[in-house]
Amino acid sequence: MKNIALHWQILIAIVLAAIAGSLSGTEAGIGSLTFHGVYEFIGTIFIKALKMIIVPLIFSSIVVGITGIGRAEDLGRLGAKTIGLYLVTGLLAVLVGLAFVNTVRPGFENGAPVGEQLALQAGAQDVRQNLESSGGFGELVKMFERMVPENVVATASSNGDLLALIFFALLFGFFIARVGDEHAEPLFNFWNAVFQVMMKITEFIMRFAPIGVFGLVASVVAETGFDAVRPLGVFALTVVAALLTHALLVMPLLVWLLARVNPWRLYRAMSPALLTAFSTASSSGTLPVTLDCMEKNAGISNRISSFVLPLGATVNMNGTALYECMAVMFLAQAYGVELGFATQFLIVVSALITSIGVAGVPSASMVAIGMILTAVGIPVEAMGVLFVFDRVLDMLRTSVNVLGDGATALVVARMQGEQTLLAAPAQAHRA
Ligand code: ASP
Repeated sequence: MKNIALHWQILIAIVLAAIAGSLSGTEAGIGSLTFHGVYEFIGTIFIKALKMIIVPLIFSSIVVGITGIGRAEDLGRLGAKTIGLYLVTGLLAVLVGLAFVNTVRPGFENGAPVGEQLALQAGAQDVRQNLESSGGFGELVKMFERMVPENVVATASSNGDLLALIFFALLFGFFIARVGDEHAEPLFNFWNAVFQVMMKITEFIMRFAPIGVFGLVASVVAETGFDAVRPLGVFALTVVAALLTHALLVMPLLVWLLARVNPWRLYRAMSPALLTAFSTASSSGTLPVTLDCMEKNAGISNRISSFVLPLGATVNMNGTALYECMAVMFLAQAYGVELGFATQFLIVVSALITSIGVAGVPSASMVAIGMILTAVGIPVEAMGVLFVFDRVLDMLRTSVNVLGDGATALVVARMQGEQTLLAAPAQAHRA
């Protein structure tokens, strides 16, 4: 299997899991050991491994990102513009996703929730109670209250208090940049080292994805046959539609309005990067190609691209934010819950913030989705079903992530008065 690309391995694993799960069902086995039990065991270990890295990965990634921005003193204005654009495009992406998932409602089929088809019935009653009780304005106020941790160590010891942890990480990173080099240097290096190691661990865990996905998919198929395919297919198509809307409608509009550049030229300049993102499902892995495209094909100065793009590769993830929001909403729907405004708001904010903390490696959003699920009161195990289509969706959302980085770099460059190779001369002097 070693020479086969990971996404093919995962695809093969899904096919094998479908066969194995449907042949064995829940009963078959040897003695008291059922095959279904083995699948569940494998799947559980895989999900637990992903949960294991949530806190250190998100924390170190945010600290490094924020410290990096804060330390680049002369880039203050550039930094503010970049961050502003990253937030705006991220928010737009999440809202596009939210609109699609609320309109299409992939978690319902003929008005009935698809939880049973996805083998999500365990604890459904509790989940419904959890979610239904969290819909009012009071909850929103509580959410902001919860954002300030009482005890950072206690917060970091559970995966449930994500906003509080992120709040502290933001503060921590911000003030590292303000204590003077003597102290800032070792702290930055330390957290950067932690971040690098966590990325490696994520990659390492993802190498086992074919086995983990096999366990997760086989256990769902063993329980429900192929009932899960339809609702998951509908969900996947809804995500694709939302991603395409963001990439082909929202972003071009923004590029046109803010940079006065024909968006088509940006796609053309970025096509090698977009294709690399698609095939590797890793925006960090694509970074060298993105840099090359934006400097050589788009003609953006190195000063801007070398600041905006590396930051964007970990911090700016439009596709990921959109996907996280849709995935959590889909699972809530599958449990039969109509989410109130406050919970939807919590999901939007969490998707936006966690997409900042997600590393640019394959399937990294799964880590963030696990975190948001815990925060809103859905069992993390429910996300197992998402793995069926995750790789394909990951390839697409990574391309959208990279497109967002490139578009932001272009807009920032134009705002800084750069001509770039993409602005037609007639439009350039108007901008
Ligand atoms: N694979 C994505 C990226 O590298 C992250 C994710 O959504 O899983 O951009």
